[in-house]
Formats: sequence, structure tokens, C-alpha cells
Amino acid sequence: MTELFGEFIDSDHKTMRNGRGSGAKPMLSRFFGSSYAYWRVGQYGSIAGYEAVTQGGVYFAGEHTSTDFQGYMEGGAAEGERAADDILKRLH
Ligand SMILES: Cc1cc2nc3c(=O)[nH]c(=O)nc-3n(C[C@H](O)[C@H](O)[C@H](O)COP(=O)(O)OP(=O)(O)OC[C@H]3O[C@@H](n4cnc5c(N)ncnc54)[C@H](O)[C@@H]3O)c2cc1C
Repeated sequence: MTELFGEFIDSDHKTMRNGRGSGAKPMLSRFFGSSYAYWRVGQYGSIAGYEAVTQGGVYFAGEHTSTDFQGYMEGGAAEGERAADDILKRLH
């Protein structure tokens, strides 16, 4: 687990394991990029929504294409469903 997620330390630099559970800080892991999108000031009113626009046969989906839940797992899941629906509509 330490190799996968990095060393588990809290803000006091103590381990976050107690034998029954452990805390994870994926942003410390070398296996994860660990980031999410956000709009800078002014971008919500200018470019928000364009992230999900299909480019030819290329479909985009992820938390970054969600206008309601950007940056959250809900956005990633909902946008995956939306893109799959878009592809199915194009096929039919
Ligand atoms: C530290 C941290 C804490 C978070 N906490 C929460 C939380 O408490 N609640 C919450 O709802 N959300 C949280 N989030 C946000 C949440 O993790 C993301 O919104 C969600 O994982 C986005 O899902 P996704 O499928 O859009 O993208 P991702 O989960 O980033 O998936 C993208 C995938 O594409 C892969 N990939 C990238 N480039 C390529 C390529 N060229 N070829 C093939 N594959 C590629 C990546 O390896 C990755 O597996 C947190 C994020 C971070 C970083």
C-alpha cells in the first residue's frame, strides 16, 4: 500500500495507520497525477461547456466536461454516460 499510495502521513507526520484502517493521500503517490480541472475567473462565462463539444468523431468525457460537477466523481460518471449516449445516437 505504501508503494502504491505513497507514505501515509498526516499533518503531524505520523503514520495514518492504526492496524484497523489507514488513510490515503494519493497526491503523494508517484503512480497518480492527481489533479482535476477548474475554471479560472471569467472562464465559466466564456468557455465553460465547450470542453464537451465533439470534434469530428472524437468524443470527450470526464469531470472536466461537466458543467454541474466539474472536479468531482459525479461529473466524471455522468459525463461518461452522456458521451456514450451521444455515440449511440450517432450510430443509429
Ligand atoms: C486528491 C484528490 C481528491 C479528490 N477527492 C474527491 C472527492 O472526495 N470526491 C469527488 O467526487 N471527487 C474527488 N476528486 C476528484 C475525482 O477524483 C475526479 O473528479 C474523478 O476521478 C474524475 O474522473 P475522470 O474519469 O473524469 O478522470 P480520471 O479519474 O482522472 O481518469 C482519467 C484516466 O485516463 C487515463 N489517461 C490519461 N491519459 C491517457 C492516455 N493518453 N491514454 C490512456 N489513458 C489515459 C488516466 O491514467 C486515468 O486513469 C479528487 C481528486 C483528487 C486529485
